[in-house]
Amino acid sequence: MPIVELLERAASGGRLSLEEGVQLYTEAPLHELGAAAHARRLALYPTSDVTYVIDTTINYTNVCNVHCTFCAFFRPEHHAEGYTMSHDQVLSRVKWAADQGATQIMIQGGVNPELGLEWFERLFRRVHAEFPSVDIHSLSVSEVIGLAKVEDSSPSDVLVRLKAAGMKSLPGAGAEILVERVRKRISARKAKPDEWLGVMREAQMLGMPTTATMMFGSIETKAERIEHLDVLRRLQDETHGFTAFIPWYYVPWKTPLKGKEASGLEYLRVLAISRLYLDNFAHLQASWLTPGLKMGQLALFYGCDDMGGTILEERVVHDAGSTNEATRKQLEEIVIGAGFRPVVRDTYWNLRPDMPLATAS
Ligand code: SF4
Repeated sequence: MPIVELLERAASGGRLSLEEGVQLYTEAPLHELGAAAHARRLALYPTSDVTYVIDTTINYTNVCNVHCTFCAFFRPEHHAEGYTMSHDQVLSRVKWAADQGATQIMIQGGVNPELGLEWFERLFRRVHAEFPSVDIHSLSVSEVIGLAKVEDSSPSDVLVRLKAAGMKSLPGAGAEILVERVRKRISARKAKPDEWLGVMREAQMLGMPTTATMMFGSIETKAERIEHLDVLRRLQDETHGFTAFIPWYYVPWKTPLKGKEASGLEYLRVLAISRLYLDNFAHLQASWLTPGLKMGQLALFYGCDDMGGTILEERVVHDAGSTNEATRKQLEEIVIGAGFRPVVRDTYWNLRPDMPLATAS
């Protein structure tokens, strides 16, 4: 199929087959791919609004028994540099974030077998009771599966109890590339692709919104990136439970796996094909934490309609060698500088006009 015809079909919301997705991703000139993705984004959201959420990430423990080779954050059990925060320490960080207007917290960490489900239930109940305006968008499929093992239970039962304790939604972390060959090499102890998708399906059936992610640029082929998009698109056809897709690239600098960082051009290419291939995903998020705010600004012309969160205090990507951070004002200025209008949203993509912009003061 000629590239120009594929671009036209995808820009107008038509579905690409797996083979067509690979062809478009690998052969289309970057700017034409970007133009098609931007046209699709403008068709979906004709206003100049670009959303973001005020949030923080609290990495409550770095102890992990999964040992992914691309991860510089974790420490094995009993390691001298291992840490686990107390509930009071987590709560004090939630308070700090809430004082700055955060409406969402992402409590995420390693898969620490010392922590049972009750530890999280007590923590989430306290967060919910003391900070009712902050949504608990927390943990990951890996942590849910780890808890099911500790409790000799099922991921579904774990999710039911976490939801009852106040957890509102499940982030899409830990997907990396949902292709068996890749996972065997970079995260052999992690959930297999079908398990990851199965836990997401369970969460969605419980009414929990979820996001989907992709960490690209480690050892996967370009075709495997499109395979990853394809399995997500199939689950979304079935459940419509993903709110957004968030691709970011692997940061190799301090990891056992090592390797090279993806280029800015590759990042933009991935964003554009994601917007076009994932025709059933409402939102595409500019994951500026690894490529930086200026690339995040460019991402708004390659299919993205959301700038993610303020992500204060994140450690996982930071420990791998990425040092990007942003205040609300900086994030808004980047959006305004690109000719768009920043709008605060919450975890469920409800717009929050009641929350004044930082650039308004
Ligand atoms: S990526 Fe997550 S699951 Fe893998 S080693 Fe790091 S903390 Fe553990």
